[in-house]
Amino acid sequence: MLCIATRHPQGIQNYAQNMWATTTYFKLCAKDVKMVSDDVRQSAWDVQQKLIEDAVGIDGLVEKLEETEAVYDLTGKEPIIVCIDERIIPTGTDEKHYYVRSAGTFILLDEESRKAFVESSGTKTGTWHKECGAATKNYGDTHPGAKPTSETIDTYAREFVESLEDSLGLETREIGIESPGFHPAIGAIYQGVDMDPFQIDMDLPKFFGINRNHTPKKYALEELKIALDIAFGHGFGDLFDKENPFYIIVAGNPNNPELCADNLCSEVNSVLENTPYKEKILVKAYDARI
Ligand SMILES: [Zn+2]
Repeated sequence: MLCIATRHPQGIQNYAQNMWATTTYFKLCAKDVKMVSDDVRQSAWDVQQKLIEDAVGIDGLVEKLEETEAVYDLTGKEPIIVCIDERIIPTGTDEKHYYVRSAGTFILLDEESRKAFVESSGTKTGTWHKECGAATKNYGDTHPGAKPTSETIDTYAREFVESLEDSLGLETREIGIESPGFHPAIGAIYQGVDMDPFQIDMDLPKFFGINRNHTPKKYALEELKIALDIAFGHGFGDLFDKENPFYIIVAGNPNNPELCADNLCSEVNSVLENTPYKEKILVKAYDARI
């Protein structure tokens, strides 16, 4: 198993240069974030940590993802686009479907890249969900000064995805989320391959999903930044530390030099250089058996 464990080293502390000051995003989100009590947050944390423990730690989980052929055998299955959000209920992944991920189903992606994503993934279905952070960000960018309600954002997310019926020929529908009002993600999977991680023989802890294999590097890394902002901003936040880090699992494509584990690991680490969270993040990378 190629498994690169990188606890990011002490490095540049130049937070002024970082791209994390997504203050607009946080200001917008703050209006909609329903604060949960410390007890609720701690309980959700305990559940996620237990799932990691059940997998015999992050190494065990990565091994399950690497070793389970069904995770990568997508023969006869159709891809459905869902948001990178970790709360998406995996009802779409069964013997007929698997997920490909894009924040807000393309809402932050340029038109050319949307078309390229659809072409390379072969998807025919897009979804929207409630409480979409990507839709919130896009709304803020396109409606400066506005203070939208959660209903406004939900409508905005739905109408955007419905517009893809005309522009990209996608069928669209809503997909549900678990734990509304709170983000219980303990990590992100940065994918150089299509995969169905729900096929492992245990409940998967909550991970954001980022399909680097269907998007340009710069954009995929923006999605990773959003995931980190959410997890550290209004997810488990200060519960992450060196001993209980936010995990980034890199699933590389050994047949593509650009998307192999080593290269994707370098991409991810280039982002972590400029985060204030870098000491609380652990990267695990492997090349998928495809
Ligand atoms: Zn979303």
